[in-house]
This record gives sequence, C-alpha cells and structure tokens, in this order.
Amino acid sequence: MSGAKSRLLEFFQNNVGKYFPLSELAKVAQVSDWPRVIRAMRLNDGYDIEHIAKGPHKGCYVMRSLKMNPAKPRGGIDQRIRYRILQRDASCCQRCGRGVKEKVKLMVDHKIPVEWGGETVDDNLWTLCAECNLGKKNWLSDENSEEMKEVMSQSSGIKRLERFFELHPHELLEPTRLGIISGIRDWERTLRHIIARPI
Ligand SMILES: [Zn+2]
Repeated sequence: MSGAKSRLLEFFQNNVGKYFPLSELAKVAQVSDWPRVIRAMRLNDGYDIEHIAKGPHKGCYVMRSLKMNPAKPRGGIDQRIRYRILQRDASCCQRCGRGVKEKVKLMVDHKIPVEWGGETVDDNLWTLCAECNLGKKNWLSDENSEEMKEVMSQSSGIKRLERFFELHPHELLEPTRLGIISGIRDWERTLRHIIARPI
C-alpha cells in the first residue's frame, strides 16, 4: 500500500462520518495526486468514501462507514443507479428530449467516459437515447485517450477547455467536441469568458 493511501485510510477510519475539505486531506496525504488515490480507494478497493457534490459540505470527502462495498466492474452502472438516473431525468433523453412515449431505447451513460477518468457518480451520469448515445460515441472515438485523461483530470470545465486548446493550437475545433469536453451545459458562456479574459 502506498504511503499516501495508508495515511488517508487511517485518517478516514479514525474519523468515520466526518466531512473533510480538500485542504485537510492534501495535508494528510502529502502528495499532489491524492484525489486520484481516493478515487482508487473508492472505485477499486470499495471503501465507503463519498465525494459530496452539493449542500453545505460541497466538495468535502467523508467515509460513511467502515464497511466495504463489494467490488463492482469498473464504471459499472447497477440497476439501482440506473433507475435513479432515469427517474431524475424523467425517462427522457437529455440531448434530444425523446422518451418512452416516442418508444426510443434509453440508456444511462457516463458524460465523461470511464476511460477518460469519469466516475460513476450522479453528476457524471445522464440518460441518453440509443441514437444520441451512438452519435456521442462516434465523436469520442476520434479523441486520443491518453490526452483526454489529462484534459479531464483538470479540476473544472474551464480548465479542461483551456488545456484542450493548448494541445490543439491553430486547429479548428467543432462545437460538439468542446461541449463534450467541457462537461458543462453552458460551455459557450465559459468559452466567451476565456476569450474575454486578459492574458
Ligand atoms: Zn436522444
């Protein structure tokens, strides 16, 4: 076990149910890529650690209990998650809006693909119809996985776009690609913000 992992594990196990901000965990881990270490603890080892997406503890990590989750296939979306996401999205494709009424096949998809470091968390999951999903997959298959892993490891949509532009100077980039990479709905506004900012 790596030093950072054993330090984090001991810290969490001694503080079950307490919320910790990033700054505190960085101090415990003593390495810069500690979010990756925690991700591996959750997804690969099955520790009951959660990254809080909203509310007063937004951005914090917490170990919910000492119990371990049985290992799931990497990026696996089980039936419970699938049901919850379909319910949240009112059983409609989040791109074209079609749903059960239109008799389209719906699937729950990772917005940021697992191969690019996307996690199986609600914020990274959405409902797509088979057709939109296929269209998206065709776009993604043209990207370089290693490069995208690096782009996607940036902490925000704006940083992801910046890194992507750095890697593709003097290239014409299609809006669809930029939308997928930013992972944010109002990415066009974000782009205007990047352009307007003094260098
Ligand atoms: Zn669709």
